[in-house]
Amino acid sequence: MEYKKITLPANKSIALIAHDNKKPDIVRWCKKHSDDLANHKLYATGTTGTVISAATGLNIEKLISGPLGGDQQVGALITEGKVDFLIFFWDPFEPMPHDPDVKALLRIAAVWNIPVACNPISADFMVTSPLFNDAFERSVPDYQSYLKTRDNTPK
Ligand code: PGA
Repeated sequence: MEYKKITLPANKSIALIAHDNKKPDIVRWCKKHSDDLANHKLYATGTTGTVISAATGLNIEKLISGPLGGDQQVGALITEGKVDFLIFFWDPFEPMPHDPDVKALLRIAAVWNIPVACNPISADFMVTSPLFNDAFERSVPDYQSYLKTRDNTPK
């Protein structure tokens, strides 16, 4: 796979997701960092977004609930270059009916080289990084080069 550089703007788009047992953690984390988060565009899966905005007043674009396809919506936004950061407090102790979607989202985040935090301490490091509020270069798959490597001749 060939990669190309794109510039992440200083104002990022951040997706927030927490499984049910982790919702108190994400609410606590968002309260702690609400001033930092308010400067960025926020997305969340349905229930996560609802509890965070009720607790913090943050302006959040809410997608559908995770088990109904919200994780896949976040994955699509990453692929389209519309989400730059993923804060995803998934629950390591509960099996989820939408486990394939969770796995797919984490895979897409790896494909597109998105910073991902799966627990509060990683998310703390992320938002307190001096890079967080600045423009930053990121390598992403170069789809045009990828197309050239494929044999697209009709058989
Ligand atoms: P929810 O979805 O925010 O709608 O609870 C999260 C998830 O389970 O992926």
